[in-house]
Amino acid sequence: MRFARNAIKSVTTKATVENMKHLWNDYQRNFATERGKRIDELDVARLGGWCDSRDILMVHKRLTRAQSTMLIQLRSQNIGLQAYLERIAKVDSSQCGCGAAVQDVDHIFFHCPLLAEVVEAQLYGHPAVQCRNMYRLMTEFASHLTAFAIINLGLEQFEPVVDDYDILF
Ligand SMILES: [Zn+2]
Repeated sequence: MRFARNAIKSVTTKATVENMKHLWNDYQRNFATERGKRIDELDVARLGGWCDSRDILMVHKRLTRAQSTMLIQLRSQNIGLQAYLERIAKVDSSQCGCGAAVQDVDHIFFHCPLLAEVVEAQLYGHPAVQCRNMYRLMTEFASHLTAFAIINLGLEQFEPVVDDYDILF
């Protein structure tokens, strides 16, 4: 009985992974086509295969639920920053507190003067990271990146778990 259950689980898991792989590939292809781009020209959130060496599924398996949620939000840009909040009509402006016109993931991690010091010290310059490549940060260093984001982006949704990640820094 146990053997049969395990066999069924193994088959359904395999089928689910295959299905997700196809969904992901279709999503990437459609997203690129709609924008007249090649898949390798997509933004960092949409790069990577479902089951390649930097397998997105494997990256998520190494994260806590909160970190996994944060990673999806960072990669999809559907995150409580001004750019997204304006897109869904929750705020009137996509402007960042520093005065930049668009507060999105790219701005926060690479251009915002208000966060530059903490980003440099706790993310790019952190001894465990030493990396500025966003694709690598979102895959190899996803645990560190998401913990950093949970602590520093001040998103209300993550407030209950902020203290869980302090230990990393
Ligand atoms: Zn800013």
